[in-house]
Amino acid sequence: MSVTLTTEDLIIGGKRVPSATGKTYETLNPATGEVLAQVAEAGIEDVDRAVAAARQAFDEGPWARWPAGRRTKVMLKVAQLINERVNELATLESKNCGKTIRDATAEVKGVAMCFEYYAGAATKIFGQTIPVYGSGLDYTLREPVGVAGQIIPWNYPIVMAGWKLAPALAAGCCVVLKPAKQTPLSALALGQICLEAGVPAGVVNVITGSGPLIGAALVRHPGVDKIAFTGSTEVGRELMRMASDNITRISLELGGKSANIIFADADIAKAAEKAVIGSFINAGQDCTVRSRILVQREAVDEFTRRFVERVQQLRVGDPLDPKTEIGAIISPQQKARVEEYIEIGQHEGATLACGGKTPDDASLAHGNFLLPTVFTDVKSEMRIGQEEIFGPVVVVIPFDTEEEAVRIANSTIYGLSGSIWTRDIGRAHRVARKVRTGTLSINSNDSVHLEAPFGGYGQSGIGRELGMYGIELYTEVKNIYVDLD
Ligand code: ADP
Repeated sequence: MSVTLTTEDLIIGGKRVPSATGKTYETLNPATGEVLAQVAEAGIEDVDRAVAAARQAFDEGPWARWPAGRRTKVMLKVAQLINERVNELATLESKNCGKTIRDATAEVKGVAMCFEYYAGAATKIFGQTIPVYGSGLDYTLREPVGVAGQIIPWNYPIVMAGWKLAPALAAGCCVVLKPAKQTPLSALALGQICLEAGVPAGVVNVITGSGPLIGAALVRHPGVDKIAFTGSTEVGRELMRMASDNITRISLELGGKSANIIFADADIAKAAEKAVIGSFINAGQDCTVRSRILVQREAVDEFTRRFVERVQQLRVGDPLDPKTEIGAIISPQQKARVEEYIEIGQHEGATLACGGKTPDDASLAHGNFLLPTVFTDVKSEMRIGQEEIFGPVVVVIPFDTEEEAVRIANSTIYGLSGSIWTRDIGRAHRVARKVRTGTLSINSNDSVHLEAPFGGYGQSGIGRELGMYGIELYTEVKNIYVDLD
């Protein structure tokens, strides 16, 4: 199949520009191994250029000074342009990260909704008047934090770009966005849409290239007031250290090993059906994925039988086929990492109930595909029960009592999300209070609602995105006292 190669430039100061060195790199389609586009490879000089453009737009430009309602209009236009290009953007996303066209389409629509939500939020950012001792007037202002450096991963490229850009823009910030090196195309497309919608020059800058080089330079840059990062706990830890040089504000959305707790009194058929998506959405490359299924011992056999049967029916294949349920893994390296965990699980003595290998289909041979994999008889302390695999591998861990379920659920370094399945309403809320995670769902595996806070406990991160909590990440509170005498 022939591919039309495009060359994708950076977005700096309202213009598409090549990198300062003129260097480019190839971005690939993980489902076929083919080259999709040549992309500008930014270096340190480009980071400086992008931060300078954002700095100037923030310090001197109109964006933060406009009445908020004017930002609302521009952001609604961004949402409209996204909605007009859903198919084009979803196809680009599917090709660049190997995710199914089904999911990509829903995700692109979700990004438009995210812009709509924050377009509305822009006019609802305000301070308080505080009765203080004495006769003066005390009030607060919520002001934009300034220039935000935003670093996002490859698993949900356009969603992450939307979650980062929309609240920052609503708050009046200017942004330098760095997508993951593997998946730059949809972030560049979204940056371009922002320009077309009338976001002023320099407010949204997009730089593409190496994380350890330009990501690190962005975090260390004295012109950046705030860093928002989504990615691995390992890199997040490193960025937090770097951000400490200038006391740059930092919010982190990191890894997870979330528990899907299924009590014997639950609707086991429904829990098993929903666990399929809960465990294998985006081929398991999702920080909220329920990668540990804790099942009460009386229900383990029934649950496992139903779950494994359904997992074996999942259609793994060409992400662009609307019937495909599991697409490709991002890279051969990531696939190898997941395969290593499959070996580790077998050595640790867990039972491989299904999957564990590459699909036989010869048409998939050039892509990074793996069959969805279920391990049973897993003990919580095994490495496959503790470490984030970030691929299509789920473990089933039996438990006896409510206390044991809570103890196992809380036994990892993470705390991002989780689920509780039971018909006992008291137990549902009791367990929900005891599980230490940022989001929980009862008789559901949903974690993300644009209007509600999202983020982690423990080493899953710091800060909450989405909803009006997301605005807090991009604002500073200023207190003003007026002597009235
Ligand atoms: P994952 O690969 O699991 O998505 P990473 O944490 O490796 O997560 O990458 C997330 C983002 O962080 C990407 O944009 C990547 O380029 C960037 N990144 C990786 N390493 C560094 C680093 N040392 N400094 C700054 N950014 C980095």
